[in-house]
Amino acid sequence: MNKRWTIDKIRDFVEKNSDSTLLSTEYHGFSQKLQFKCACGSTFEKSFTKFKNNNQRKCDACQPPKASR
Ligand SMILES: [Zn+2]
Repeated sequence: MNKRWTIDKIRDFVEKNSDSTLLSTEYHGFSQKLQFKCACGSTFEKSFTKFKNNNQRKCDACQPPKASR
């Protein structure tokens, strides 16, 4: 996967693929935690990898981390 993500592309992706908004204004790499604002108004932090690949596109209240059941 050679696609290079920039903060603008990420913001675009977030807007098109989720109800959340990107708050961070800089992107330094996949391991960086980015700040998002959930549709419910809460802010949350997540790496873009998780956001995109693990479908974690909402705050923990709206989308609790995988329940073990
Ligand atoms: Zn939420």
